[in-house]
Amino acid sequence: MASMQKVFSDYRARQSILKTSTNPFANGIAWVEGELSPLHQARIPLLDQGFLHGDLTYDVPSVWDGRFFRLDDHMARLEASCAKLRLKLPLPREQIKQILVEMVAKSGIRDAFVELIVTRGLEGVRSAGAKELVNNLYLIVQPFIWVMEPEEQLVGGSAIVARTVRRTPPGAMDPTVKNLQWGDFVRGMFEARDRGASYPFLTDGDANLTEGSGFNIVLVKDGVLYTPDRGVLHGVTRRSVIDVAHAEGLEVRVEHVPVEMAYSCDEIFMCTTAGGIMPITSLDGSPVNDGKLGPITKAIWDRYWAMHYDPTYSFEIDYRIAT
Ligand code: PLP
Repeated sequence: MASMQKVFSDYRARQSILKTSTNPFANGIAWVEGELSPLHQARIPLLDQGFLHGDLTYDVPSVWDGRFFRLDDHMARLEASCAKLRLKLPLPREQIKQILVEMVAKSGIRDAFVELIVTRGLEGVRSAGAKELVNNLYLIVQPFIWVMEPEEQLVGGSAIVARTVRRTPPGAMDPTVKNLQWGDFVRGMFEARDRGASYPFLTDGDANLTEGSGFNIVLVKDGVLYTPDRGVLHGVTRRSVIDVAHAEGLEVRVEHVPVEMAYSCDEIFMCTTAGGIMPITSLDGSPVNDGKLGPITKAIWDRYWAMHYDPTYSFEIDYRIAT
């Protein structure tokens, strides 16, 4: 089974190899209108409705140690998000997967943050119905991004329950559609910083937890895992947490989670593709339980990273196709 130190030291070793690379795509590669370019040179058309009106959806799968992780789960969620917004994937799923694999192989990046963005396109909904509009696709592959850095994961991070902002309600923006309307999260992140913490937990305005700026929230109390059912993105990492918790023989309840439980639980962690299982050891300035990483968080952490090598959930990328 993986240990945190080993997973991180192997990752650091791969990072230092990447840093010596002379490949022009080693810092990232973008696919825009069928053309590949180094990420930092890539440009979008100014008239894209994704930029002008935030009319878009996106998804973020990852590559870990040269293996794509749960790519079909991310593609399925992206397709569902598109359907809910009356967007259509500009290319068939299998073709997009193939392009992504080629991009990763071309970049030589072995641990990647991969982003697919589908926008309404160059014309907006004022001018035509959804069916007539031509949607745009943008693809990005860049070195892995951490919502919580590895060093911090070893000791746990600090969160707050946001007081100055609530999560946008589902009737305004459906949170099961992965979206970049981050006004609530940005306010929450500023509040967290103002209060000496790093991560905001947003409520539904009715004294229940929802999620935070790019992560789902999991509480552990008396050996049971609790994660909010409503007002949240159905995270692929959250699904992995449920899978590994069941493999550990643990019960997981996806239901209303009152804010109050966060102050009386034994362990808290956040989860997301860009960072995995991220322990929270301080909430609103007070230690969570004894302020140390809890045993269930650690067990889930270990199994989660081990899962990345399981062919049920991941496949190996052949980097030779790029040469
Ligand atoms: N919630 C929000 C708002 C997110 O933006 C994300 C990921 O970016 C998540 C939850 C976690 O989703 P996943 O585990 O699929 O990465």
